[in-house]
Amino acid sequence: MKKILVTRKPPKYLLEHLKEEFEVEVWNSEEQKIPQEVLFQYIDQVDGILCLLTDQITKELIDKGKKLKVISNLAVGYNNIDLDAATSNGIIVTNTPGVLTETTADLTFALLLATARRLIEASNELRMGNWKTWAPMMLAGRDVHGSTLGIIGLGDIGAAVARRAKGFGMKVIYHNRTPKPELEKEIDINYSSQEFLLRNSDFVCILTPLTAETQNLISLDELKMMKETAVLINTSRGGIVNENDLVTALSTGMIWGAGLDVYEEEPLPTDHPLLSLRNVTTLPHIGSASVQTRLKMWDLAALNLTYALQGKEPPSAVNEIGDK
Ligand code: NAP
Repeated sequence: MKKILVTRKPPKYLLEHLKEEFEVEVWNSEEQKIPQEVLFQYIDQVDGILCLLTDQITKELIDKGKKLKVISNLAVGYNNIDLDAATSNGIIVTNTPGVLTETTADLTFALLLATARRLIEASNELRMGNWKTWAPMMLAGRDVHGSTLGIIGLGDIGAAVARRAKGFGMKVIYHNRTPKPELEKEIDINYSSQEFLLRNSDFVCILTPLTAETQNLISLDELKMMKETAVLINTSRGGIVNENDLVTALSTGMIWGAGLDVYEEEPLPTDHPLLSLRNVTTLPHIGSASVQTRLKMWDLAALNLTYALQGKEPPSAVNEIGDK
C-alpha cells in the first residue's frame, strides 16, 4: 500500500476515503501548521503529500523525498513549492484551479465594495459609540458604479471579477502578458498596457500568480502612476505588492485606499504598519473560504493525489514530467 502525508486535518469523509486506498499519515490540526521538521521527518517515507499553501515545499525537502511522486497543493497558487526542483526530480505537482474561481471573485468584489464604502470602518465606528449624528460627509467613500476597474492578471478569477464589475456598471480594462480577444468581446472589456491601466483606473485589482516576474510588480513607481483617488485591491498573493511602498502611498495620500487579503508575511504581524492606517481594509487570506468551495478544494486535491499515485493523469497538474 502506498503511503501519503496530509499536512492538515481533512474532512472526516475524505480521510476515510483516502484510508481505503493508502496508508495515511495526518497532521491532525485545523489551526496549526505542520512544523517544517515534521515534514522533513516524513518526506522520505511517503509516495505523496497533500499540502497547504502555508507549507514550504523547498528543494531541500523535495530532494529528501526519495519515494515522492506527487505534491498535491490545496490551492490554485503554488508559489510555496519549488516547482523546478519537483520537476527535475520527476515529481508531479498539482493545484486546485476552477473550483475556487467564483468564490474568490465574490470575495474580491466584496473587498472592493467594503474598501470603497468604508464598511469595516463604519461598522467599527458604530460599535465604538462614535455614531452621534447623521453628517453630510460622515464616512463618505468612493463610488463603485460608473468607475473604471483595472485588472492586472485576467485569468479565471480576473474574468469572474470583470463579469461582476460589469453588473455594477463599471468600465473594465485589463492587462496580461497575452491579450484575450474572445473574452474582450464576451464581457465587453478592453486590453491596455499596465501603465495606461494604472494611470486611468479608479480601482486596480491584482490577480496574477506570484512568480519571479510578478514579485514587487506594484512598487513605488507604479503606485505613483495611480490616481490620488484610486483604490488598490490585492487578493492574489503578498509579495506582488511591495508593502513598504504601499504603506508610503497610503500614508502620504498618493492613493486613496487599499483592500488586502494577502501579505508578504502571513499571518500579518499585529504590529505591522499597515494595521495602523485607517484607509486600508485587511482580511486574513480568506479568498476561497466558503464551506462549499473548501470541500471542493479538498476533493480535487485528493483526486489529484490519488490519480497521480495510480499512474493516471491528475485533473490539474501544473508540470509535465516523464516516468520517475
Ligand atoms: P490564472 O487563471 O492562472 O490567471 C492568472 C493570470 O495572471 C493569467 O491571465 C496570466 O495571463 C496573468 N499573469 C501571469 N503573469 C503575469 C504578469 N507577469 N503580468 C501580467 N499578468 C500576468 O489563475 P487564477 O485561478 O485566476 O488565480 C490567480 C491567483 O490568485 C493565483 O495564482 C493565486 O495566487 C491567487 N488566489 C488567491 C486566493 C485567495 O485566497 N486570496 C484564492 C485563489 C487564488 P498571462 O499568462 O497572459 O500573463
